[in-house]
Amino acid sequence: MSRDGSGLPEEVRAGAERYLMPTYARLPVCFVRGAGARLWDAAGNEYLDFLAGIGVCNVGHCHPRVVAAVREQVGRLMHVSNLFYTAPQVELARRLADCSLGGKVFLCNSGAEATEAALKLARRARPRGEVVVLERAFHGRTLGALSATPQREKQAPFEPLLPGIRVVEPTAEAVAAAVGPQTAAVLLEPVQGEGGVFPLSAELLKAAREACDRHGALLVFDEVQCGMGRTGRLWAYEHHGVLPDLLTTAKGLGGGLAIGAVVSSPRYGELFRPSDHGSTFGGSPVACAAALAALDVVAEERLLARVRALGERLRSALAELPAVREVRGLGLMVGADLDREAGPLVERALREERLVINAPRPQTLRFLPPLILSEQELEEALGRLRRLLAS
Ligand code: PLP
Repeated sequence: MSRDGSGLPEEVRAGAERYLMPTYARLPVCFVRGAGARLWDAAGNEYLDFLAGIGVCNVGHCHPRVVAAVREQVGRLMHVSNLFYTAPQVELARRLADCSLGGKVFLCNSGAEATEAALKLARRARPRGEVVVLERAFHGRTLGALSATPQREKQAPFEPLLPGIRVVEPTAEAVAAAVGPQTAAVLLEPVQGEGGVFPLSAELLKAAREACDRHGALLVFDEVQCGMGRTGRLWAYEHHGVLPDLLTTAKGLGGGLAIGAVVSSPRYGELFRPSDHGSTFGGSPVACAAALAALDVVAEERLLARVRALGERLRSALAELPAVREVRGLGLMVGADLDREAGPLVERALREERLVINAPRPQTLRFLPPLILSEQELEEALGRLRRLLAS
C-alpha cells in the first residue's frame, strides 16, 4: 500500500518525471504485483490485464512454470557471454528451430534487435539489396528497425535513415510488383500490431512468397507481436501455410523476461559468418530458461485451441458494443475501431473499470490479454467495457 492510498505513489511519479527520459506517456498507475490475467497497483487495487505488457505476458503474469525455471537458473548461473557454451541456450535454439522453420537461430534481447539481425541477414544474402516493407508496419525503434517502420512522425526527427528500404501498400499486387532482382528481402508482420491490428491476407502472404522465390529474395516474417501463440497458432504464419525464410520473435518468447530471436529455414542457417553479428546478453541462460518454460506453456494444442475460441468470443462480443465500427484480429490479438477517440476510453477503463487496454491508433482499441485467460475473466472484461461505453 502506498502511504497516500493512491495507485501511484507521489515519490514514484515525481521520480519518474525527474529521472526517466520522457519516451512514454504513462498512465497514472504503479503496478506492484501480477498473477495470471490480474495486476495490483500500489494501493492494492486489482485490475484485469487485457494488454499483457503489450503482448509480452502471453503465459500470464508470474506463471509458476516460468518463475520456477527462472529461480532455478538464476541461482545457478546468470551470465557467461557467448564466448562459451551454455545448455539452456542450445536447448532453446533447438526447440525454436524444431517448432518453426527447422534451420538455425540467433538469440538477442528484444524485437528491435531481432529486426536488426534480420536486416543484416538480408544484406548478407544480397549485398546492397533492397528491403520491401509494408505501409502501417512496425518493426522497432533502433535506427535500422525504424528505417523499416514507415511512420513519418516516428522517422522524421531521426533522418537520415537506412537507405534501400522500399515501402509498398499492403496488397498482394503491390508486393509482387515491388520485388525484383534488386530485392534482398520482404519484411512483414503476418498480423500488423502497432499499425492497428491488421491481419494480412493469405493472398498477400502467398504473393510475397512467390515473388521472393522468383527473385531469390528472403521472406522475413516479424512475429514479435503475433507469434508465441498469440493468434491461436504457435506462429501466425501457420494460419495460411506460407513459410518464411526467416522468423523473428521476442515479446512473448521470454514469458516476461527480455529475449528475442531470429530463426532461419535450413537453407539460410549459415548466412552469418563468425563475427558478423553478436550480442553480449543475447541468449543468456536465465532468459533462455524462462523462454523454454514459456514455450512449454504456449505450444500446448489445448491452450492454442482455447485462444482461438476465446478470440472468436471476444471479437463477436466487441462487434455488438455501441461505438464499435469494425473489429479485426486473429486469436487473442484484437483491434476495435471506434466512432470516437480511444485515448480517453483507455484512461477511463483503467481508472473507472480497472481494465488495462491500449490504443495503437487514435480511434482503435487493442486487446492482447494473457493467453491463459479464463472464460469468466473474458466475460468480466466485456462487462466492464459495456459499462464504460454506455456511460
Ligand atoms: N516488431 C513488432 C511487430 C513489434 O510489435 C515490436 C514492438 O512492438 C517490435 C518489432 C519491437 O520490439 P521491441 O520493443 O522489443 O524492440
